[in-house]
Amino acid sequence: MFPVVSRHYAVFKKVNNVDKMTDHKEIMKDIVSLCKRRGFIFAASDIYGGINGFWDYGPLGVELKNNLRDRWWRDMVLCPPIGPDGAPISIVGVDSSIIQNPKCWEASGHVGGFNDPMVDCRESKKRYREDHLIIIVPKDEENDKGKNGQSLLDNGRTSFAFMVDQWDKTEEDAAAKKIEKYIKKAGDETLKNLRIGKLILKPFEGRVKPEHYKFVVGPDVNTKGTLTEPVQFNMMFHTYVGAASGDDNKAYLRPETCAGIFLNFKNVLDSSRVKAPFGIAQIGKAFRNEVTPRNFIFRSREFEQMELEWFCAEEDVPQWFDFWVDERTRFWESVGIPKSELHFLNVPKEELAHYSSRTIDVEYRFPFTAPDFGELEGIAHRGNFDLTQHAEFSGQKLEYFDQAENKRFVPHVIEPSTGLTRGVLALICQAYTVDKNRPSGVYLNFHPSMAPLKAAILPLTAKEEHVPIAQKLYLDLRHEFAVELDIKQNIGKRYARQDEIGTPYCFTVDNDTISDQTVTVRDRNTMAQERIHMDKVKDFLREKIVGK
Ligand code: ATP
Repeated sequence: MFPVVSRHYAVFKKVNNVDKMTDHKEIMKDIVSLCKRRGFIFAASDIYGGINGFWDYGPLGVELKNNLRDRWWRDMVLCPPIGPDGAPISIVGVDSSIIQNPKCWEASGHVGGFNDPMVDCRESKKRYREDHLIIIVPKDEENDKGKNGQSLLDNGRTSFAFMVDQWDKTEEDAAAKKIEKYIKKAGDETLKNLRIGKLILKPFEGRVKPEHYKFVVGPDVNTKGTLTEPVQFNMMFHTYVGAASGDDNKAYLRPETCAGIFLNFKNVLDSSRVKAPFGIAQIGKAFRNEVTPRNFIFRSREFEQMELEWFCAEEDVPQWFDFWVDERTRFWESVGIPKSELHFLNVPKEELAHYSSRTIDVEYRFPFTAPDFGELEGIAHRGNFDLTQHAEFSGQKLEYFDQAENKRFVPHVIEPSTGLTRGVLALICQAYTVDKNRPSGVYLNFHPSMAPLKAAILPLTAKEEHVPIAQKLYLDLRHEFAVELDIKQNIGKRYARQDEIGTPYCFTVDNDTISDQTVTVRDRNTMAQERIHMDKVKDFLREKIVGK
């Protein structure tokens, strides 16, 4: 879940072991600009001015994304965890079509129910996701102690509320100014009775009732009553299959990858040797016509998911649920996200999806949510909702036959569902480290196994003697590792570039190499250098990278 209120905060980042306070907005701006400058992430259709909610991955971004994707696939499908009984569990993969028979989305509930409440502003012509708007009601601290904004509206104590679509310190000040200006100009009768000097602006959790919309001033305007009441907006992108474009040919781009797994449940059972409990995994694109895509690649309209559907008997659900929460935590730690930056939200009953009786959101402290957290992965007990629905809509039996017990049953499902692209953002945010003591001013502290490049081979100078040795080392390493040979510019600038793109090691060929075949290894994090023999470079990298 995305936190409703993001208050003012500051982010503490380790800088040469000194905690340095940096403003979160600046950090995000710097991260976005570094991603563009160094070729991680670009706005889609950049030369045409972009297209809101769509992003392209550049040469380094695609490597980072592939590293995270491949690690997930390896840890889930190729080399799945050991189960509670000490035996490896069984997971197979699929890669299903993005467009499926539209009946699939009727069965899953997406046609009827994949809706976000949305409000339009008649004046600014903007559209907002209602559950992302934060409602601020001015109240008189002395007269209204203990009352929340909703009851103030209900009791007619105020006829004014204000909406913003982010709430932090800067917004708070802007809101205060705007509200005062509004009060002076509009001469609002109720507000006149409150003493302006004593007004406090307080976000309240909960939603504005439809009848109160007339009191609300929208985020980008100065008059109240310009917002429409919320209407449901279906977030699925649709298209038409074939030449005709009538309702009969309407199809949808999948809003999540898991449906393709449920549709292939029977095919997988019939064609492979899996035995319950078992899992089916898929990684791929998903599309949601988000009302307000925001925070870089955190919420985009086209993104990638990595989803596992774990099929087991209902009575085994509690044990497997805990198992998957532990496994997924271990996964995030193994790719460089410390547990201290994660938060496990036991999603409250009233916010659970209708099919789920239990969901834990694994949240990460993104700079734009800090000190709060934003969802990175959801682990949901989906019951047997999906198989039951697809069985009903397709008329096919979607059951598991347990030969040992000689009984059929519809398995329950536990689903760890991760955003791959959101995971990439978490890796970048976690790696981003300010260090004014080095020329780049910043470095990306990626876990070596996630770093797009594992090493750079640098001849100290472009001299005849250094370059051929560096080329030889490069040719020797590139069969096994993502390495780069960089000859241009002075050595300081080349180190700075490698720091900024998060390359953990640089091997430099210099005059000593000619006489004793040693190179320097420079460590990205400590900037410390040591000399090792060229013959040892491969083993050095294997130990530092492959083993992790
Ligand atoms: P949110 O509450 O943030 O809208 P959700 O609860 O709807 O997310 P799920 O349907 O559980 O998300 O999707 C599983 C995962 O897919 C999320 O944990 C997130 O990592 C990722 N995800 C969902 N929507 C988006 C998006 N618009 N852009 C990028 N990743 C997304």
